[in-house]
Amino acid sequence: MSYDLEWADLPEPAATVRARFEACCDLNELCVHAPPCWEEYESLGAAYQFHLNIAGMASCRDGMRRTGMTHQATPQPFPAWPFDGIDDWHSAAQSRRDAYHEAERVASAQTVAGRTGIPEFKLMSNGPWLVGAREIDEALRCYRTSSQRLRAELERDALWVAWLDWLGQTVSHGGFTVR
Ligand SMILES: [Zn+2]
Repeated sequence: MSYDLEWADLPEPAATVRARFEACCDLNELCVHAPPCWEEYESLGAAYQFHLNIAGMASCRDGMRRTGMTHQATPQPFPAWPFDGIDDWHSAAQSRRDAYHEAERVASAQTVAGRTGIPEFKLMSNGPWLVGAREIDEALRCYRTSSQRLRAELERDALWVAWLDWLGQTVSHGGFTVR
């Protein structure tokens, strides 16, 4: 298992290429375009992504928990997939797919009322999750007010420094997705 993170709001031309890739996935089992939609997305999206293996994410979660950047909660369930199979999905009216995408997006972006920072469950599975800019901003504020000694200890780890940099970037780009 690994975690693929990406800016929620991409700049152009990456945003258009991602939208085209997603639209192609809605309609086709295999991309029929040249160059392939995934190839363009892979190359243009790379600058806005962060990839973690299971151990790396566990280490980031640990640092976040110790500095009060995350909280424990139980996620609300995702909507059921209301299609009879992949053929039904591909051949359905776009409005049915759009309705599902929107319901999934709302579930992905769920927050926990009255809690500050990022719910840890968004960093424990491939969701898909959307960690919003406000959650990240709150988490970074908690970090800045945590003990200097603890921060110095964490920042000896290059992965943690890269993780903080990632949070700092994505807070001004709508947050990030986790898949
Ligand atoms: Zn395509």
